[in-house]
Amino acid sequence: MDKVSSLINKNVGDIYLKEPLSKHSSWRIGGPADVLVEPYTVEQILEIVRYADLMKIPAVVIGNGTNLLFSDEGFRGIIIKMGKNFSKYTIKGKRACVEAGIWTPKFVKILSDNGLSGLEHAIGIPGTLGGLVFMNGGSGGKCIGDIVKKIWVIDKNYNLISFSKSECDFSYRKSVFQDSNYIICKIELECETGEKEKIESEMRSILDNRKNKFPLNYPNCGSVFLSNPVVNDTFAPPGKLIEEAGLKGYQVGGAQISEKHANFIVNLGNATAKDVISIVQYALKIVYQRYGLYLESEIKYVGEMGDLKSLHEVGKLSME
Ligand SMILES: Cc1cc2nc3c(=O)[nH]c(=O)nc-3n(C[C@H](O)[C@H](O)[C@H](O)COP(=O)(O)OP(=O)(O)OC[C@H]3O[C@@H](n4cnc5c(N)ncnc54)[C@H](O)[C@@H]3O)c2cc1C
Repeated sequence: MDKVSSLINKNVGDIYLKEPLSKHSSWRIGGPADVLVEPYTVEQILEIVRYADLMKIPAVVIGNGTNLLFSDEGFRGIIIKMGKNFSKYTIKGKRACVEAGIWTPKFVKILSDNGLSGLEHAIGIPGTLGGLVFMNGGSGGKCIGDIVKKIWVIDKNYNLISFSKSECDFSYRKSVFQDSNYIICKIELECETGEKEKIESEMRSILDNRKNKFPLNYPNCGSVFLSNPVVNDTFAPPGKLIEEAGLKGYQVGGAQISEKHANFIVNLGNATAKDVISIVQYALKIVYQRYGLYLESEIKYVGEMGDLKSLHEVGKLSME
């Protein structure tokens, strides 16, 4: 047994060898990971990270894979999946404390069942809460950072440390956690009290609206290019620019710029990471030629050896 798969002898959670990453990506794309582990506790996460460092094996933390493109070759290392095993929560008054692996729509519903408001905007975001904090995700002009009180992370020295809201340095789709190898473990939110019926009706209308706008019938990764309000004011939202450039329906292999929403790339059935990257590269080039704007992507590409890059950087490299 090699040093990667010998992790199986340790009590670090549920372990899968040669696990197809397509099963862990909302794009349904990606070759096999040598090992994928789903830990239950902070201690287990620490043990995996220490082991990876000691053995010099690349390790990458993921949530629900709804903002990630995995390489067609897969990943030669350990994927640490923060998911349902790591999703306990407590609610006291307006404060909710929750582990990072909880599925965001599930937690939004739990908050609403407890008459708590502030995260309804995330009801249709299909990732984990840890992924949402990492990305400072949200919708309708709101983001998770608005209601964060405190975040606990594991740092590179294997310490569990906490960040106050201001230390998280939240801005549009950015957080301090993108700048270093922090593993987000626990999230404390400060919500508002609200009427359950009102919150539920708001959530229903958000979901209806998204169903009409987004191509949810094909595997996708949400918006591919950042829709930064500041950039949108000068140019237009990326979907509009791509549509105006005539790229709706543009297809490479099994991947296509959605006919319904041009900021989505959908997997028509057998798309590869290479197909998606070719489309990104083409869209970047055409939009740049037409508008002088270099689009940025919020999606991260996980290379075979664990290098994490924003998708626009991979598209740019391929253009050279
Ligand atoms: C249909 C669809 C609609 C979407 N709509 C929206 C939207 O309206 N608004 C929006 O903001 N996003 C949207 N997204 C994108 C995505 O769902 C969010 O960014 C989500 O929060 C990512 O969470 P995840 O668990 O899937 O993260 P992943 O995709 O698994 O990971 C994303 C990044 O976060 C890091 N990460 C994940 N968990 C942790 C952790 N615990 N500690 C440290 N790093 C971590 C990963 O290393 C990676 O770099 C959409 C996606 C889809 C498929």
